[in-house]
Amino acid sequence: MDQIFLYSLRKTTARWRAEDAQVADDATGVNLFRLRMLWPVAAGFNGLFLIGFLWRLLDASLPPAVAAWNLRLVWAHAFIVSAALAMGWLVHRAGQIRHTRTARWLATANAALIMVDGLILVAVDQPITPNITAYLIACLVAGGAVYLQPRMAAAVYALSYLAFFKLMGWAQVHPELLLSNRLNGFAACVLGCLCSCFMWRQFCTLTLQQRQLEKANAELSQKQRDLERLTRQDGLTGLFNRNTFVELSRSELKRAQRQGSATTILLLDLDHFKRVNDTWGHPAGDAVLRHVATLASTTVRSTDLVGRLGGEEFIVLLPNTSAEAGRKLAEKLRFRLESTPVQWEKTTIAVTASFGLASTTAQEKRDFDTLYTEADKALYLAKQRGRNRVV
Ligand code: GH3
Ligand code: MG
Ligand code: MG
Repeated sequence: MDQIFLYSLRKTTARWRAEDAQVADDATGVNLFRLRMLWPVAAGFNGLFLIGFLWRLLDASLPPAVAAWNLRLVWAHAFIVSAALAMGWLVHRAGQIRHTRTARWLATANAALIMVDGLILVAVDQPITPNITAYLIACLVAGGAVYLQPRMAAAVYALSYLAFFKLMGWAQVHPELLLSNRLNGFAACVLGCLCSCFMWRQFCTLTLQQRQLEKANAELSQKQRDLERLTRQDGLTGLFNRNTFVELSRSELKRAQRQGSATTILLLDLDHFKRVNDTWGHPAGDAVLRHVATLASTTVRSTDLVGRLGGEEFIVLLPNTSAEAGRKLAEKLRFRLESTPVQWEKTTIAVTASFGLASTTAQEKRDFDTLYTEADKALYLAKQRGRNRVV
């Protein structure tokens, strides 16, 4: 039972230590940000106390012991204000240079300085009042304002308690009050340290959870983009698939008719493509399809649309293009296909295609389906007339 407990404790602390290292830089960033806010506020508050105690010094009716206490408080607050201003400036500089190691130590030094401020105030208070509220506040503020790794927190709180223990011995002469203060100081220290460890753990968990969430979000967005692309593109060639092509062509035709320009579509079907598959296999056939897609895309203008209708059939929409210009382009593409055989492993595969062409002017206002039917008929004729030609 004990062994199981020890084993799981060791596992948990090892996991925590690994997590601590992962969030250390984030903690430093938050620490610097908070301390940049904290020190000006601390300097302001203590500055007000300083003015108050200076004002009281002018009162000649104060008993000598109270006047001496008042003077010590003036010095204490003057020190705290100066230290706060100096630390505020250092933290500001560290934020600018972003030297993580220095910044990390600076955060620890800040927690220590908060403790030192508390210690000075309680030491000054002891001849007049036994309360140690300033130290209690310092323990809680250091734990709450600065994220410290638990080992570092334990060291800072242990050292601060040692200093508190010693200081009380010098400043508090009454034995019962001394014992009571040392016990209360110990409780404040443990409380502050626990608070610090608890805050650190919570910071670790939240930061790592947030990172996981951001990663999952990025993956989800990427998947969504891939999915969108897949629904619009043909997986093999990267060209528009049938649905996307038809949708884009319809709006392109409408736009051309509004602007009064001619549009031409080309249907392209590879000749005897079945033989390619039968002779060299489907992977070779796929390579030919990719080759044709690249050739078609690089032959047309960037404003033209190229799509794969399925199998070995491709379609091109040429906006602002008359039947005459479309025929020239089809001839050019036909020739390029014929004169650029595909290199597949150690063989060369010759490719030709038949083209069916259909055009509309702005006056005719023919829709996509009509043009497609006409181009399909022309393609059929091209096949019948011996293939490798434009009709
Ligand atoms: P024609 O000159 O009359 O067009 O003859 P063809 O052999 O090109 O036409 P057919 O319609 O008889 O054959 C088309 C072939 O295209 C049949 C099919 O196996 C092949 N095919 C369709 N889609 C793909 C594909 O994605 N990859 C591969 N490798 N082949 C495909
Ligand atoms: Mg076909
Ligand atoms: Mg074919």
